Amino acid sequence: MANGKIGVTTENIFPVIKKFLYSDNEIFLRELVSNAIDASRKLQTLASFGDFKGEIGDLRVYVEVDKEKGTLTVSDHGIGMDAADIEKYINQIAFSGAEEFLEKYKDTANSIIGHFGLGFYSAFMVADKVVIRSLSYKEGAQAVEWSCDGSPEYEMHPIEKADRGTEIILHIDSESKEYLEKDRIIALLKKYCRFLPVPVVCGKKQEWKDGAYVDTDEDNVINATEPLWTRRPADLTDDDYLRFYRELMPGREDPLFWIHLNVDYPFTLTGILYFPKVKSNIDLQRNRIQLYCNQVFVTDQVEGVVPEFMTIMQGVIDSPDIPLNVSRSYLQADRQVKQISSYISKKVADKLDRLFTSDRAEFEKKWDDIRIFIEYGMLTDEKFFESARKFFLFKDTAGKYFSLSEYRNLVEPSQTDKDSTLIYLYTTNPTAQFAYIRKAEEKGYDVLVMDGELDGHLMSLLESKEDKIRFVRVDSDIPEHLIRKQDQAATSLSAEQSDILTGIFSAALPKEDDAHYIVSLESIQENSAPATLTQDEFMRRMKKMAEQQPGMSFGSQLPDSYQLVINTDSAAIQQILKSADESIGSDIRPILSDISSSNEELTKAKAPDASEELKASADGLETHIADLRKRQSEIMAQYAGSHPIIRQIVDLALLQAGQLKGRALSEFIDRSYSML
Ligand code: ADP
Repeated sequence: MANGKIGVTTENIFPVIKKFLYSDNEIFLRELVSNAIDASRKLQTLASFGDFKGEIGDLRVYVEVDKEKGTLTVSDHGIGMDAADIEKYINQIAFSGAEEFLEKYKDTANSIIGHFGLGFYSAFMVADKVVIRSLSYKEGAQAVEWSCDGSPEYEMHPIEKADRGTEIILHIDSESKEYLEKDRIIALLKKYCRFLPVPVVCGKKQEWKDGAYVDTDEDNVINATEPLWTRRPADLTDDDYLRFYRELMPGREDPLFWIHLNVDYPFTLTGILYFPKVKSNIDLQRNRIQLYCNQVFVTDQVEGVVPEFMTIMQGVIDSPDIPLNVSRSYLQADRQVKQISSYISKKVADKLDRLFTSDRAEFEKKWDDIRIFIEYGMLTDEKFFESARKFFLFKDTAGKYFSLSEYRNLVEPSQTDKDSTLIYLYTTNPTAQFAYIRKAEEKGYDVLVMDGELDGHLMSLLESKEDKIRFVRVDSDIPEHLIRKQDQAATSLSAEQSDILTGIFSAALPKEDDAHYIVSLESIQENSAPATLTQDEFMRRMKKMAEQQPGMSFGSQLPDSYQLVINTDSAAIQQILKSADESIGSDIRPILSDISSSNEELTKAKAPDASEELKASADGLETHIADLRKRQSEIMAQYAGSHPIIRQIVDLALLQAGQLKGRALSEFIDRSYSML
């Protein structure tokens, strides 16, 4: 019999362990089972080197709960320990300055466990007494029993034990009774031990018999000891990968493709990453990659270990080289982890590149499903952007796919503007913007479909990275001006005529709170539409950006701003102008000239050197001008109101843009019938 003190530098290590580790106390099971597995594998290793000549026998690790006795036992048939081993590995905790260390890392309690040889002691998080019964593999070894009640004192004495290996018996404390529930233990084993390399058994397999589940004779093995990622890719079929995926991610649609990672240098890492079908942001759920350390589950929080954008992938990564038990901030700063992260990123890019080059048709088929993932990567990872340049695909309205360079070649001849900028036309909604798309196509242009959630950001990125390209939505200008090949022709209208046209069409525009319309006059072509509604690309992007600014709600309050472009060359507009001029020209002209002379006087009155008398007249002049303008718009509104053709032209432009709705639409229909 031996008594002694456990060799830690502080008296109160156990209370500290309990306190700091309480929240995560379930990991004790992972620690104990891992130790049992290690002991079993060590025996296999010794045997393979000829240092152990006995019978290896069955190496299964058993986890048993005995509710009556209040114990949980983990037993193995590994190398075992003799008294000297226990003295060395258990009593002398290889760890100094415990308290100081715990103080420093109290937020990352997990870091202490495992990393500093405290794995075994995590048992005290849930037990008020722990007993070790062990028989070493060494010839002639004496079996020993060690026990400790959580104080720094232990007790050890020789015992009779027939079979080689170790039993760790936990007397579960009153606060941790949950660990006496077999279901809870099985659930934990499934979480942490699902892929351990040695079979782990908890109870017997059950079968349904006479209206109840009963135990069979067969051991209930928790784990798959040779998970797919540990096997050679050359030995595996697509079916194997798919089966493994379904096991990992039950109830999910089959993945698009996968990557089997396998590297030994400069770090060791294996794993399988699957590309799920991602259709929208809602699918972008994280925590689907599980991190293992030698087949022991560690976490599904892999931030830092894989590039951010790849956290939407699913699968497993196994590496003994990732410092698993330290805090996340530490993880992100770790050089090795950075290397791992960029390795994975590169592997994924290589795989995509290979698919793109070797089987373009297949790649295109999958493109719509992986597009959001790739765009996310391009937007967040500079290196990935560079690789993705090769395989990123545009899709046009005809459903054809083009790489960046292919598209440049396609549109260069027809879509280069007068400043040698390549204009990439796009639509965000092929149905709603159909009329604009057709007009653009009639001009021989190609139109891209950019309807993805990240497309807006991607276009800005491409504009900054690619040589002289600009994205322009098909409805952001009249077709003739989408790609400006020469300077704009000035309209041949007089100032008065312009005023009249602008005035009568402004009067017919909808008045809405959330949309702002202005009229602009353009000399286009006689046979082009009399009026077209456009939404300026720049303004639209500004609004969108403001909307997406976190915490800024004003973006959505900004009104949409549209332009009603009037084609002054169109016969219909010429006609309207002529008859408006005839009927209201004589009323408008004097008002316009009064406005212009009043404005001149106002400028004088506001000049710094103006006499006091002049200055005093300014207010009066301002009111006078406002009155004149009011009068002018009343005349125009009245004219517009009594000439349905004006409203009709405005409504047709709105209709084409998909903006004629509700009352306005019904009025339009009635008006159209009455015109027939
Ligand atoms: P770690 O496993 O990180 O070294 P532990 O505190 O869990 O730290 O274990 C300390 C040592 O005790 C182990 O390295 C091993 O030598 C020994 N040990 C623990 N459990 C067993 C076991 N089931 N069989 C044999 N040796 C064990």
